[in-house]
Amino acid sequence: MSAIVEEPWSGEDTNRVLKDAPHHLTVLVVAGLDPSGGAGLLADTRVVLEHGFHVAGVATALTEQDSQMCSWMHPVDPTIVSNQLARLIDDFEIRAVKIGMLGNAAIARAVATVIKRLRDQSVPIVLDPVLRATRGVPLLEGNPQVALAPLLPLVTVITPNLDELAWLTGSQLDNLDAVIEAGQNLQARGPRAVLCKGGHLPGDPVDVLIDDDGVLQIPGKRIEGATPHGTGCALSSEIVCHLALGTPLRDAVQKSVLRIRERIAESRNIGRGRPFLG
Ligand code: PLP
Repeated sequence: MSAIVEEPWSGEDTNRVLKDAPHHLTVLVVAGLDPSGGAGLLADTRVVLEHGFHVAGVATALTEQDSQMCSWMHPVDPTIVSNQLARLIDDFEIRAVKIGMLGNAAIARAVATVIKRLRDQSVPIVLDPVLRATRGVPLLEGNPQVALAPLLPLVTVITPNLDELAWLTGSQLDNLDAVIEAGQNLQARGPRAVLCKGGHLPGDPVDVLIDDDGVLQIPGKRIEGATPHGTGCALSSEIVCHLALGTPLRDAVQKSVLRIRERIAESRNIGRGRPFLG
């Protein structure tokens, strides 16, 4: 039998792609594990890989959930979270950090202590202040204002939905002016910017970004149907990837909002409960 001999492949094209793509750079995700893949670490991973980065992930909690509901969550030992983060930060070139579900105040403190080093190097940090599952149990134990306080001064942008904004500021949010005022109050507690996700106000949704330049309203059209599972996770992951690429915050937020609207419009029924983003 004659052997098939192939010319060694020069790899030139691939090398060019490797050099231009950001996948030797890391986006770090700190989030809870939703085994359904609709939210949390797995959903964030998908977004980061779509942008071409390497993704590193630290799980803050395990959850028991499917497309219908989240019935249980179990926080990871904060020392494990802290050790895992410290090793990744020593090892990788981290371009941005997304923080999602934290589970409890001890984990939030551990994360804040370690990632302060990255903030000091001007690495963008996005915090999605996940407080409870849309259908299911709380995902942060105790008082969220106290639990998230150590992280707020480190954050480039925090992305509360209206319920989360109300909890974090103790406000009642039934109109746009109240949302803007609450967002400004939250900004005064440390984050450089606040993106208030307006999906839960009546009428067409308006997202409001409060940053150093003032207030930017991003109007949208309501998309009929159930809100897909994990929308907030995917939005904050989009934003973190754009920031990792060096996109200015306002552009990063607007591009991300548009991408998530596309994905909502393309939602699919994977399980028997809420749809998942397309
Ligand atoms: N599970 C995890 C790990 C999450 O991070 C989140 C939200 O961020 C959820 C569940 C809840 O997602 P939803 O409220 O969209 O169902």
